[in-house]
Amino acid sequence: MVNASEDSRKAGKPFAAVVLPLTRRPGGDRPYFYRVPPDLAGRLQVGSPVEVPLRAGRTRGWVVALLDACPVADVKEITRVLADVPAFNAELYSLAKWIAGTYLCPLGAVLRALGPAWLGRPSAGAVRRAVRLAVSPAAAQQSRKALAGRAPQQAKVLDALLAGGPGVPLDVRALGVDRRVLQRLSERGLVKLEEEAVDAPAPAEGEREGPALRLNREQEAALAAVRQALEAGRFATFLLHGVTGSGKTEVYLRAIAAAVALGKQAIFLVPEIALTPQMVASLRGRFGSEVAVLHSRLSPQERSRAWQRLAQGEASVAVGARSGIFAPVPRLGLIVMDEEQESSYKQEVVPRYHAREAVLKRAQLASAVVLLGSATPSLESYYRAERGLYRLLRLPARADGRPLPSVRVVDMRQELREGNPALLSRYLTERLSAALARGEQALLFLNRRGYHAFLVCRHCGAALRCRACDITLTYHREGPALRCHYCGFSLAAAPPCPACGAEAWLGLGSGTERVEGEIRRYWPRARVLRLDADAVRRRGAHEEVYAAFREGEADILVGTQMAAKGFHFPRLTLVGVVNADVTLNLPDFRARERTFQLLAQVAGRAGRGERPGEVIVQTFFPEDYSIQAARDHDYLSFYRREMRQRQRLGYPPFTRLVLLVVSAPAAEKAKEAATALGRLLVQEKLPGTMVLGPAPAPLSRLENRYRYQLILKGDAGGRLRQMVRQALAAWRPGREIRLAIDVDPIFML
Ligand code: ADP
Ligand code: ZN
Repeated sequence: MVNASEDSRKAGKPFAAVVLPLTRRPGGDRPYFYRVPPDLAGRLQVGSPVEVPLRAGRTRGWVVALLDACPVADVKEITRVLADVPAFNAELYSLAKWIAGTYLCPLGAVLRALGPAWLGRPSAGAVRRAVRLAVSPAAAQQSRKALAGRAPQQAKVLDALLAGGPGVPLDVRALGVDRRVLQRLSERGLVKLEEEAVDAPAPAEGEREGPALRLNREQEAALAAVRQALEAGRFATFLLHGVTGSGKTEVYLRAIAAAVALGKQAIFLVPEIALTPQMVASLRGRFGSEVAVLHSRLSPQERSRAWQRLAQGEASVAVGARSGIFAPVPRLGLIVMDEEQESSYKQEVVPRYHAREAVLKRAQLASAVVLLGSATPSLESYYRAERGLYRLLRLPARADGRPLPSVRVVDMRQELREGNPALLSRYLTERLSAALARGEQALLFLNRRGYHAFLVCRHCGAALRCRACDITLTYHREGPALRCHYCGFSLAAAPPCPACGAEAWLGLGSGTERVEGEIRRYWPRARVLRLDADAVRRRGAHEEVYAAFREGEADILVGTQMAAKGFHFPRLTLVGVVNADVTLNLPDFRARERTFQLLAQVAGRAGRGERPGEVIVQTFFPEDYSIQAARDHDYLSFYRREMRQRQRLGYPPFTRLVLLVVSAPAAEKAKEAATALGRLLVQEKLPGTMVLGPAPAPLSRLENRYRYQLILKGDAGGRLRQMVRQALAAWRPGREIRLAIDVDPIFML
């Protein structure tokens, strides 16, 4: 941060450059210049959030430089400073500029993502905003039906409140809807909004656990390499490739301890805080009050306080998901990124950055060490390790010496041929019965929630689709029957077929609700829990399900990928993958990579206790190499096959991609604008690049907007970005047109 002598030097500067988050266009946010009024001199620094006059009104932005002279004449004065705590320091400002340039997004949007910008002083106590039903459940149910078509967001809130039970308040932030949605419900008299003061839980003090384990040889070697780099104080990146249960966590924890011992701070990134309670508990156990947990459910005040503890060095370890990369630690020594292959590290709204790349940049700026860890590294990372850009560290076996679980693949085509059309094969049924008889636990994994994936008309064959999106509605038994998993539109019951008027639907494709139903039918006495986004809508529900299963209060856990990650259930011996093809069949060049990763991850849950584990994978594509490699626990064979495929087709990591999606309420307009943009891109085309499209996006309509996509491919990201910048400078789209720019996209639908 800024030290005292620098402070006094800047105190006198009469001008400030201020970035205002005004534009949606990348590169369009050059700073505006203002005079610093005498009463603010000395209170401003880089990162200070300020209010400034703009045209007739006022707006807010951040100081990015203090200047002796001003490049433009006649500037106005800054109106006021919004917080004495700067929103970012010089290092984070450099990172923000890098993100804006790399991902072609407005600098203002990145700065906004950096932290608690205009919150003022963090208060000691925090306030939690809650919402509860103001009417009877029956009345709410009725209003819900009336709202379902017109106001799906409002209906969604009512659903959540109804699911939570009468009188139970829900945390506003956990609902993830705009405040206006709640306001409207409140105006209708359906809900009551309240604020309750909560005291941020005081971090546990004193009861730190010492590292009791003796590291094995591979762990020791990995730690030694990281420690050496920390001591050298230079930028370095390690990729820790360790099978599930190989003791990566212990290496992370000791590497962090080594950084802290050197007087440095560390950032620990996990894919999702809520899905990694054990990891957070380990960190708290080891580092006590030195840990600041940054999760999305913190109130602005709690967040601000955590920010300040890190900025002032009171806390040395920041734990967070993707945005934890912006933790304002001034003495950064180490960044650990667990499960580096996870797609949740890529942000899917502006700024569309990838946290893994931002980690590398930030570490470079701070001369810090990066430790990426995974059982199934992304192809991008492993390729970099192969080329010597990262140092590869290996943990090839489970730390406790137990074997990896045996994996058996069941060919569902044969199952059908032999007369079993059921969801569960005979083999899985048999093994499940045996596990239950032995009093052991089982996990049934299916990466799709709901009961049926979609409904088709028995008369004309049309599928029932969302009104606003080109997506089939998922059929649920609990809550509203038909739901768009994209926009939240829902219907209480299936309408007549919009194509032919018939009222005879056939449900196809199975989700977790159906698996749960089948289990209750076959094993009526087995205790079943479900873990998916529907089952854990209520705050805290996730932890409850997880704890209940761990405590042995259920025999079978049915879940989506939420249940596949990071957990350690000692009594779990059987894992059944109900349908591996859900991810395999997605129209995406990463479908196989995702399938392999998910299978390895879910298989890793089995046999982590005394008894050996068994994994059964059901599929219609048993010869696919992603499934065979997962069966053999053979990352390298998967990597080699998949790399050959990517090279042949010209996909990452051999090329870079930029995805441009042009959308508009009218299909014709979207197509025209995309065509015009495509023409400009072709005009700006540089050697070694390709412009593909425009073509309708695989999801051709979302939330009432038609979508056309262009894909740029090339060997070098810089050229692709230059083409986009040049083309955008000349592109004149109509007012209703929107453009989404995604550099190095992860989801291409
Ligand atoms: P990973 O993160 O690689 O999947 P974990 O870190 O969860 O693996 O470790 C799996 C188990 O092995 C944990 O219960 C952990 O306590 C244990 N473990 C880790 N290191 C050692 C060691 N050196 N000796 C014995 N057990 C270990
Ligand atoms: Zn929809």
